[in-house]
Order: sequence, then structure tokens, then C-alpha cells
Amino acid sequence: MANQEPKVAYFCMEYGITSDFKIYSGGLGILAGDHMKAAYDQNRDLIGIGMLWKQGYNEQIIKEGRPYKAYPVETEKYDFLQDTGVKVKVEIRERDVWCKVWKVDCFNNADLYLLDTDLPENYAGDEWITDRLYGGFNEHRIAQEMVLSIGGVRALRALGIEPDVYHFNDSHPVFAGIELLREKMEDEGMWFDDALREVRKNVVFTTHTPVAAGNEVHPHKLLKYMGAYLHLNTEQMVAIGDAPFSMTAAGLRLSRNANSVASLHEQTANEMWSHVDGAAPIVGITNGVHRGTWTDERVVSAFEGGDTNKIWDAHQAAKQDLLDLIEERNGVKLDPNKLLIGFARRAAPYKRSDFIFSKPEVIEEYLKSGEVQIVFAGKAHPLDNKGREIVARLIEMADKYSNSVVFLEDYDMVIGAALTRGCDIWLNNPRRPKEASGTSGMKAAMNGVLNLSILDGWWPEACNHGVNGWAISPDGVEAKTAEDFEGSYDEKIAQLDEYDVNNLYDILLNQVLPTYADKEKWVGMMKESHKDTYVKFSADRMLNDYYRLVYAPENN
Ligand SMILES: *Cc1c(COP(=O)(O)O)cnc(C)c1O
Repeated sequence: MANQEPKVAYFCMEYGITSDFKIYSGGLGILAGDHMKAAYDQNRDLIGIGMLWKQGYNEQIIKEGRPYKAYPVETEKYDFLQDTGVKVKVEIRERDVWCKVWKVDCFNNADLYLLDTDLPENYAGDEWITDRLYGGFNEHRIAQEMVLSIGGVRALRALGIEPDVYHFNDSHPVFAGIELLREKMEDEGMWFDDALREVRKNVVFTTHTPVAAGNEVHPHKLLKYMGAYLHLNTEQMVAIGDAPFSMTAAGLRLSRNANSVASLHEQTANEMWSHVDGAAPIVGITNGVHRGTWTDERVVSAFEGGDTNKIWDAHQAAKQDLLDLIEERNGVKLDPNKLLIGFARRAAPYKRSDFIFSKPEVIEEYLKSGEVQIVFAGKAHPLDNKGREIVARLIEMADKYSNSVVFLEDYDMVIGAALTRGCDIWLNNPRRPKEASGTSGMKAAMNGVLNLSILDGWWPEACNHGVNGWAISPDGVEAKTAEDFEGSYDEKIAQLDEYDVNNLYDILLNQVLPTYADKEKWVGMMKESHKDTYVKFSADRMLNDYYRLVYAPENN
């Protein structure tokens, strides 16, 4: 198989491989890590290109009820990194920046190469380009993207790797397309139009967030100053990315195939980017998760056996592991026989982390009695103060309902795995349609943790309301967006929030809690949840889709 298959180079700013290898922040990195793991499991000819972050992503420390960001003082050292002996040069701000190429020596066929500018031969300051994941903006961010992209292509050349497909996962690596154009124009003497046509034959692109602010835009002047133009002129760069330069528009124009990360997101993304002329078609490839990483073996083997009591016991064992972790970290002892809701996401306004507390007159009695217990986790983006306010509010709620609400500090893969194995309910309540996919709900569902979610991201593809989980909508079908309401933007949002929160309470109190009281019925739903997601939302299925729908040579 490997011989006819295209060789793929996968570019991504972050990778979630293991919890303490701190080169990831959240969803995008976890997805990239799971993509690599699936490629390894399937013995695919796929390699990854990423960054060796010196200080990783911001750590979260809670002090006196408020979250603070922190970075390790010592730069991270990893003994499983292999020195390839390769160094490549990228010219940034007219200075040569050397990038060392490390290899993560655990994937065999699916090698992961990481770029690192922390070298004595670099000019003062440039060794800090690979310092903090998403920790800078403007010049700093562009420099990081140039290292990943331009450095990444040059690393492949120096390593003697010749990919058939360059996959840009999200838009951070799009300057790799500019480097591929430079090669064709400067080294092979092609005209721009011909070079672009040739480059596109080998590039595919995945677009993620449908939130406008999450799509990066840079002024041309700055790109030119940084050296990101390479051999190109302003007119050509505008033709690729518009003005100002949209990284996502560039990704769509530099690629032959593009994809979104769920079916609903396919619609949203196609509408959102319909103004981009010359863009690659966007198909939907729903994300999947690596089962070896995210499922609890005890629970999965109990599902295979099918015995209701054994499934319940395995679930309770996973729940107890989570309760132990909560007690160890927060000193709070939750009740294993009461409903436990999990919620963990990046703290961003549209994700509405504190939504369940909207109407104390409805929910308070359940929190006070401990009938409903909730465990939260989630960091704010390092440059996002609003996000930190949201976290502060969750901590305030944990203080107020100290026997039933907890906030776990410093959300990472260890916490992510414990929560998606050990909760009873996985809650997700973003404002539709802002969630591109959401993979934590998939992890939960496979482990028989029932989703209670807005019909956003991946959930419309899996939800069988009242059978394998619940939609937060009156009948399990009708899902609204702000556009279904009248008035100013703020008024629309307020009405949507009101509509959603009433549905949330209705389903939680009238469906979830009564079902939880009936163990037979609950385990029946757990079985359905596992059955409907274990294959369909696996990283194996996802990777097969990538090969079939975007990597395959016939898509060229
Ligand atoms: C799975 C996971 C994510 C991604 O989850 P979403 O559902 O996309 O929010 C983020 N962070 C961690 C630590 C995870 O384990």
C-alpha cells in the first residue's frame, strides 16, 4: 500500500503527544497528535513538522480566586529528542535565523520533526522565536510562522524527504506555500501563475475556527519587513492573501483541496469563505480521536462484554479515579453516587463556560443538595483577559458551592483524559455555530460518558436525542443561532442565550436526572453512546477520510 500512497508532510504549530511534552495548547494540537498516532498505527507514510517550544504554552496558576499565567523558568529538556544534525536558515528581518531540526524518536514511520531557534549562532533575541506557543503577536507571531513554514520546507529538503502532499493544518504554516512558490520561480525560473498552479497540485489545507477573530490577518507592510514575501512582490502576495493578508484566504488559494473539521462546519466554512475567488473546494472531514490515548480499557472491554453491571462497575471505577484526582488536587470529596457533569474548554466568551449558573433560582438547589455536581477545567489564551474573567467566575462558583462544584487548575492531557473517562455527563454549550468540531465530546462518548450538548460541531452527526445522549434543544432537533432572533446584535445574543439556557435546564432536570436514577436505562444509553462513536469518531476513520478525500492523487 505504502508504495502507491502519497507521501504526506503534515505541518502544524502544535502537537499534543503526551501531557508533559509541552508543545501543545489545546484542540488543534491534540488533533495533530492524534493524526500522527493514527498514521503510526496504520503504518502510513506521513511525517510531521512542528516547533520545539522552549517554554510551551502558558501554565495556569490559581491564586486567591484568580487565574494567572506562568511559564517555566527552566527551558524544557526532553531526552527522547534526537539531533538530526540538520540546521536550516531562514531570513527574518534581514537577519539569518538558524533553525535546528530535532526528531521525535518514537514514531518510526510517522516521524515528527521539530524546529528550534535556541542556538548560540543566532543574533540576540532570535533564539527566543521558539519561546512560547501563541505567546506573542505581530512580528513575533509572524517570525514563528516563518520558522515553521519556510524552515519546515527547507528542513525537508535538507533531510532529503520529498513529500507528494504538503498538508497545512490551520493557517499558521501557509508561508510554506510561499516558499514552494519561491522554489519554482527562483530555482526553476517559472512565472508566478504557472508556479502557483504547480504548487497547488501538492498542497492541501484544513481550516478550523469559524470565529472571525480566530482567523489571522497581517498587514502587507509588516510581512514584507519580516521577509515573508521571499521572492514575491506585493501584487502577487495580494493575489494570494488579499489586503490585508488573510492567512486563511491564502491557505485556500495555495491548496488544491481544503477541508473543514465537521459536516456542519463544512457549511459554515463554505459560507464564511465564499468571497475568496480561486479557493480550493472545502469538504467536510469530521475530526476523530485516538482511541489508544483517550479510552479507558476497563470500560471498553466491559462494553465488548455487554454486561450491564460490569459496564456500570467499570464506569464507577473510572469515576472514582477522577474523584481521587479531584480530592488530591483540590481537597474536595465528591459523591460517587451523585451525577457528575464535566466541562472543560478554553475559556472564551462564545463557549459560555459559566452558562449553567445563569439562573440561580433554577439550579442552586441542586448544587446545594449535591444532586448535581460539576467539575470544570480550562485555560484562557495567554493574551485574553476576558477569558481570565470567565475562569475567575468559575472559581467563584466553586467557592460558593464548595461541596459540589470544583475547578481543576491547569487543564492538560492528564485532566482531559480523566474527565472524559470519569464524568457521567459531558456538557458543551457554545453559541451555535461557533464550535468547529470539539473532540472532547467524542472522547467522552466512547467512554460511555453521555453528551449533553448544543447541536454544534460534531454533535449533530452523532446525537440521537434521549438514546445516546441529549441535544440542548426542546425536541432534540431544533437548534437555533443568533440569526433566528430579532434586534441588535446584543439583543439577538441575549435571546439566544435565554432560549438555550432554558432548554439546558429543561433537559437536565426533566430528562438527565430522572434517567440517572434508573441505572438500567442509563447504562443502556451508555452502550448506545459507545456503539455510535467508537469507530465513527476515531482518528483511524478520520485519517482514512483524509487519504480518500484530500490526500489521494486523483484529487490532484
Ligand atoms: C481533547 C482535548 C482538547 C480538545 O477538546 P475540545 O472538545 O475541542 O475543546 C483540548 N484540550 C485537551 C487537554 C484535551 O484533552
